[in-house]
Amino acid sequence: AGAFLSVRDLRVQFKTEDGIVKAVDRLSFDLERGRTLGIVGESGSGKSVTNLTILGLHNPQFATIDGEIVLDGQELITARERELEKLRGNKMAMIFQDPLTALSPYYTVGRQLSEPFMKHKGASKKEAKDRAIEMLTKVGIPQPKVRFDDYPHQFSGGMRQRAMIAMALMCDPDLLIADEPTTALDVTVQAQILDLLKDLQQEFGSAIIFITHDLGVISKMADDLLVMYAGRAVERGAMKEVLGAPRHPYTWGLLSSMPRLNSDIHQALTPIPGSPPSLLNPPSGCPFHPRCAFRSEVPGTLCTDTRPPLGAGRAAACHLTAEQKQTIFIDKIQPR
Ligand code: SF4
Ligand code: MG
Repeated sequence: AGAFLSVRDLRVQFKTEDGIVKAVDRLSFDLERGRTLGIVGESGSGKSVTNLTILGLHNPQFATIDGEIVLDGQELITARERELEKLRGNKMAMIFQDPLTALSPYYTVGRQLSEPFMKHKGASKKEAKDRAIEMLTKVGIPQPKVRFDDYPHQFSGGMRQRAMIAMALMCDPDLLIADEPTTALDVTVQAQILDLLKDLQQEFGSAIIFITHDLGVISKMADDLLVMYAGRAVERGAMKEVLGAPRHPYTWGLLSSMPRLNSDIHQALTPIPGSPPSLLNPPSGCPFHPRCAFRSEVPGTLCTDTRPPLGAGRAAACHLTAEQKQTIFIDKIQPR
């Protein structure tokens, strides 16, 4: 049997006035229940688009989607809108950076938690209210019975984030997608929310996709990592391996902004020069070649002409040989 969530050769393209934006280009990954996959990359790398695609939130009028997304045996790309609506908020749920994209200002928090539960689970109003209060308690909202009747604007930013997490967990989703869920919060609240998410995953056993550009956050949350660049996966593996011994020049660059794991030494790498490529006209060959400092180590015109494949399992999409990656990483990248 396949993985709980299996994404194969996913391609997402948008028609715009300026041409076709290749937002996600042949992306594949697997995710099992109870695991957290961190997806990292700069903005425009395709991480949010990937997840909105899994959730089925793209307007088919503007987006062309190819490939396969299979969740627990069900194909999502070809699923009908009514089918997807049933899955969203029930089998899969999302947590955004800004809780106000999920919470309406016009209804009480309690009502917004209760209604999807009644709709998806056929629960009574009383059952839904009990469940909502239970979830508000779990996420640490004080006086949940009173707060049930509050409107979102009566909550602090951190409390709104918690309420959104409570809402996402109401129907006990198997897949939880968190897109920069703590970016807007101060460090203390951020740490609390991350702890909370971890505890809840232990309790509920959901699969989590955690999207962020913050490697410090991801190092606390993820089991596995997928590094995206220009709509493609460029490196994948267990989080500790990817952060401890990265194999792709882009990941080396990303890590320069982060102190080493389990170490006080701050890396003295310069940030990656240049900016992410246009997805209207992505570079030929390796999409990272215009910014790559290690291109000259690869013979001929491989980097500019041939797209490096991403193998299965622990892998990096780069033409450098395994020995080169090892040597360059140890000589030039790893701090002593
Ligand atoms: Fe750099 Fe070439 Fe590897 Fe791309 S394939 S990351 S350009 S060395
Ligand atoms: Mg984003």
